[in-house]
Amino acid sequence: MTDLKSLSIIASVAAFSFALACAPVSDADVAQPPTESAAQDTPAQHVDGATQTVENDADAPSALEQSYVPAPVVEEVFLPPDGEEDAISVPAVEDVQAQCSPSAKQGGLIVCKLPVGAVVKLDGKEVAIVDESQIATIGLKQDASTPAKISWSQNGISHAGFEIPVSPRKDDYRELTGLDCDKVDARSEEQKAHASRSWVKKVAAFANLNAPTTHEIAFLKPADGPYSSPFGPTRKYTGVSKVTGEACNSTSVHRGLDMAVPVGTDLIAPMGGTVVLADPDLYYEGGTIFLDHGYGLVSVFLHLSQVDVQAGQVVKTGERMGATGNTGRTTGPHLHWAVKWRNTAREDRDGDFYIDPAIVLELGDLDLN
Ligand SMILES: [Zn+2]
Repeated sequence: MTDLKSLSIIASVAAFSFALACAPVSDADVAQPPTESAAQDTPAQHVDGATQTVENDADAPSALEQSYVPAPVVEEVFLPPDGEEDAISVPAVEDVQAQCSPSAKQGGLIVCKLPVGAVVKLDGKEVAIVDESQIATIGLKQDASTPAKISWSQNGISHAGFEIPVSPRKDDYRELTGLDCDKVDARSEEQKAHASRSWVKKVAAFANLNAPTTHEIAFLKPADGPYSSPFGPTRKYTGVSKVTGEACNSTSVHRGLDMAVPVGTDLIAPMGGTVVLADPDLYYEGGTIFLDHGYGLVSVFLHLSQVDVQAGQVVKTGERMGATGNTGRTTGPHLHWAVKWRNTAREDRDGDFYIDPAIVLELGDLDLN
C-alpha cells in the first residue's frame, strides 16, 4: 500500500488554492487563506443558466458505463538482425490496451485503467501518474472543453490515447445583497488567529498522497438525507460590516454538495480511505474530517457535531466517522461534502481542484480487479 508514499510532497502554502463555499454565504465553507481577504474580490466564473439541481443529474449519462477488464500484458520477442543468439525481450507497450470512461461531464471525472508508471496527460498537460492500482483518475473542471484528449506515456514511449466526449453543465449564478460581512471574513484578531490555525491544518492535511485502501472506486452517500444545495453555483454577495460599517462583497463558487440532515445524523465513509484531518473546530468549517481515498480523491466533510476518528486512521466503506451538525459558518444544520481531485503528477498540489460529488456517486460499482 505504500507505492504512493513515494509521491509524498511538501505543499506550497503560497501556491495552494483551497476554496470551499456554501450558499448562503453566512454558511461559508470558505477556506481561503486568512491573509488574502482581497481574494474575496476576485471575479469568479460567471455561468449563466438555469439552476441545476442534483436531482436533474439523475438522467445524465453515467460517467462510467463500462466495466474494466485487466489489460493483457504481452511481450514481444525481437531477434537481433545480425544473427546473434540472444533474443531481447521487451514489453510491447503498444499492445497494452488502456481503457477509460466512455463519456464524462464538466466538473466530473474520467477514470482510466493504464499500466503502472504511466504518465497521463489531459489536453497535453500531465494529470496523473499511475500507481499499483493501475487506475488513473482525471478531474475535469467546470469549464472543461470537449472532447477530453487523453494521452499517456511510459518508458519514454508516447501513446496518442483517446478522445472522450465531455457533456456541458449549466451552473446557476446569483447576486444577493444584505450580507453581514462579519460572517464572511475573519475580522477580529481572535477570529483571524483561529482562521490562520485552521488554514495551516488544512494545508498540512493535503500535503501527502495516500495509497488506496479499497480495490474499487465506488461511493455511497455519506449521510441519509436529501440534497439541499448542489455543487457548482456562483454566488456574489454584497453588504456591510456591522463592526466597521464598511461595504464589502464576496464571490464564491459552491464546491461541495450539501445534504439537509439534522444535527447528530450519522456520517459514514462514502468509500474507504485514510483520515488525514479530524478536527472538531476549524474556523469556517467547524467540525471537519478529510478522508483520502487514494486514486487522487479526497472527501471533505464540514460542520460536524461529532468527530469520532483520528488522523491516520483507516476506515472502511460505510464505517461511521462522526455526526453531522451545524458548526462553523453555517445558517442551519447540514452536511457539506466535497471531493477534491488531486493531480498525482504534480508535487506542488497547485493542480488540484474540487469536482462534483454527485458525479462521483454515479461512478457506481466499478470493479477494478
Ligand atoms: Zn456546502
